[in-house]
This record gives sequence, C-alpha cells and structure tokens, in this order.
Amino acid sequence: MGDCARYRPGPMTESCDVVVIGAGAVGAACAYHLAEAGLRVTVVDRGSVAGGTTGAGEGNILVSDKEPGPELELALLSLRAWRELPPAVTRAAELDPKGGLVVAATADELAGLTTLAEAQRAAGVEAVPVASERLTELEPELAPDLAGGMFYPQDMQVQPMLAAAHLIAAARRRGARVLPGEPVAGVLRAGERVTGVRTPRRAIAAGVVVNAAGVWGGEIAALAGVELPVLPRRGFILVTEPVGPLIRHKLYAASYVGDVHGSSEGLETSPVIEGTASGTILIGSSRERVGFDTRLSMTALAQMARHAIRLVPVLGRVRAMRAYLGFRPYSPDHLPMIGADRRAPGLFHACGHEGAGIGLSAATGLLVAEQVTGRPTSLPLAAFAPDRFAGAGKP
Ligand SMILES: Cc1cc2nc3c(=O)[nH]c(=O)nc-3n(C[C@H](O)[C@H](O)[C@H](O)COP(=O)(O)OP(=O)(O)OC[C@H]3O[C@@H](n4cnc5c(N)ncnc54)[C@H](O)[C@@H]3O)c2cc1C
Repeated sequence: MGDCARYRPGPMTESCDVVVIGAGAVGAACAYHLAEAGLRVTVVDRGSVAGGTTGAGEGNILVSDKEPGPELELALLSLRAWRELPPAVTRAAELDPKGGLVVAATADELAGLTTLAEAQRAAGVEAVPVASERLTELEPELAPDLAGGMFYPQDMQVQPMLAAAHLIAAARRRGARVLPGEPVAGVLRAGERVTGVRTPRRAIAAGVVVNAAGVWGGEIAALAGVELPVLPRRGFILVTEPVGPLIRHKLYAASYVGDVHGSSEGLETSPVIEGTASGTILIGSSRERVGFDTRLSMTALAQMARHAIRLVPVLGRVRAMRAYLGFRPYSPDHLPMIGADRRAPGLFHACGHEGAGIGLSAATGLLVAEQVTGRPTSLPLAAFAPDRFAGAGKP
C-alpha cells in the first residue's frame, strides 16, 4: 500500500525516427517528405495544425519578389516541389498557378522593377514586361494611371491552412503520428547530441529532432542549448466581403519588394491584393517589429486600405469584413535557417522564413528530408546554415 501511494509514474517513453516540432506549413511539409522517405515521424504541436503564423497569413507563392541569390534559388525549387506534391493534396489546398502582376506607379519604380526583372531572368525567372496601356487587359480593375508592370507567370497561390492540413493528412497516410495540444517543454540530450523531446505527457526518443516552430523556433533552440535569432515581424490582413472574381492574379505594387527585403522596425505598408476561391479579397501587407503585440493597429489598417484603393479604385466601394494579424518569423539576414545544427548533432532547423514561409515550405520539407536521409540535397544548404549567426551578437 505504502509503496503504491509513493509511486509516481514517470512520463511514458516512446520512440520514433524523427520528431517534428510544429504543425504549420513548414512542419507539415517536413513531416510529409520525411514520412514519404519511409521514416517513422511524430509531429508535436502545442496547439492545432496551422494554429501559428500559417493560420494568420496569405497564400502567395512568389518568385517575383525574390532578389537573385539563395532565397530565389529556394523559391524556384519550391515551385517545383509544390507542383510535384500529390495532385490530391494540391487540389485540396487550392493551389492555383494564376501568375503574378507587379505594378509600378511611377517611372522610377518601373525602372527599378525592370532592372530587378533582368537580374531575375538571368536566374531562371520568367518575367514579361506589361506596358501601361495593357495592364487592364490582365487586371481590368486596375487604376488607369500606372506607369507599367511586370507579369510573372510562375507565381502561384495556395490556401495556407488547407495546405498544412492536407500535408499533415498525407504524412499520416504514410505512417506519421500527430500529437496536437502537446507543448515541447524540453529537449532530451546525451552529451551534445539531441536524442528526443519531452512534453508534459511523454518523452519521445528520436534520432532526429526537426525544429519547425516558426517564430518560436528560438525558444526550441534554447531548450537544446543553442541560439537561433528568430524574431517576430507583425503583419495585418484586411478581408473584404465576398465580391466574386474581381482580382485575377497575384497583384502587388513594386514598392513591396523593398519592404520585404528591408529591416526597418517601424511600420511599412505596401499593397498586396489577392482574390480567394470564396470570393473575398485579402489585402496586405504591413510589416513592423513590435514584439508579440496583438493589438489591432488602425494606422496600419487604414494605410493598407488607402494603398489598395489607389491601385484598385473599385475597392473603395467594397466593405472590409474583418482583419487579422500574425507574426512572421523574421531572420536577421532574411534567409531561413534550414538543416543540421552542427552545435547540437541530431537537431535540424526549418524556421525563420519570415513572409515567405508558405511559399518556401515545400522546398524546405524536401531539403530537410534529403539531408536527414543522407541524400544529396537539391540545393547547397550553406547559405541557410542555422549556426551562421553564432558570435554575431543580438540582432
Ligand atoms: C500577415 C502575413 C501575411 C503573410 N503572407 C504570406 C504569403 O503570402 N506567402 C508566404 O509564403 N508567407 C506569408 N506569410 C508568412 C508565413 O505565414 C510564415 O512564414 C509561415 O506561416 C511560417 O510557417 P511555420 O510552419 O514556420 O510557422 P507556424 O505556422 O507558426 O508553425 C509553428 C508551429 O510551432 C508550434 N510551436 C511553437 N512552439 C512550440 C512548442 N514549444 N511545442 C510544440 N509546438 C510548438 C506552434 O504552435 C505552431 O503551430 C505571411 C505572414 C503574415 C503574418
């Protein structure tokens, strides 16, 4: 009796080949590719599938906003990786290869856009100049006084929450186990080596742990004793009432590219307009580094609405139905952290994709699975090495 009363069962210990922490778009893509490679995968999320930033963004899959270099190479690989997913997944995720139209308001903006497009073309991007007077052939509702634009046929769109959910479902069909509502509270170690994770309910031993915790990736890294500088960059989206197929392509202003690649902490807004399958229009985008502040900013929303109406005047007569916000996982050099962490063998990272984590998730999952299974990676991973910031000090 006395012994029984004193007995405290320890957490159950289970095992698998790979634990993926995080069931957002990136974790879901990692889980899918790892399970597809034949590994026994367990996905652990403290919330629900797509309950993090993935459920709070838009679904642009863009090459048009990437400058030549490692991120553009990753984006081009991701286009391929999205197209190579099972058709049942991409159909259910509303993957739509609708193309993107970037418009310039002034001659200066058009010159910048033309220079960027030339460099992108040399890197394998398709970019077709559109003269001012032909813009409305592509987007009839555009303002008549724009300087010109560039059409990017490779840009696509997806519904992020559906993408994560259907990738997770596809991983489960390949044997993956999914544990929602379970926070990872500790990382198991044997010396420097990472050997699994601990949640309040169980310990899970695994040869590999993948940190796909998005903007919370730094917290997971810290549990494993390493530093990873992922910071929140807040963004708002305005959602209009359903208006039907008003906007045909990914549509955004040339100034958006500068905002994406900037590092300012202050508020930046530039119009990104996306029609959805349900007929609503999503209006972005804002960027600001204000920590995890969840208060709605009328300043940001009003600026976004004004910019969008300048581009598409008819939006001035459409009602906004709601607004929401999310925290992009910002990386100080604007490149995600992908691959093995040499400071903690067994630990892999797949986070820090900032405002492109939906688009880049497919390639990230593929690359992580290739590296974990010891296959040659489809891209060199050096530019994305998670330990590249070591000794750089705080961002
Ligand atoms: C307004 C806005 C617009 C955007 N638009 C686009 C766009 O058009 N195109 C694009 O590509 N990207 C866009 N993004 C960026 C994109 O949403 C993110 O880059 C992407 O969602 C990141 O996905 P993730 O899977 O890395 O992170 P998340 O979706 O945040 O997933 C991380 C998961 O980790 C879990 N987690 C955290 N800590 C723990 C723990 N201790 N234990 C267990 N689980 C844990 C969380 O619960 C969460 O579910 C936008 C973002 C915002 C805010």
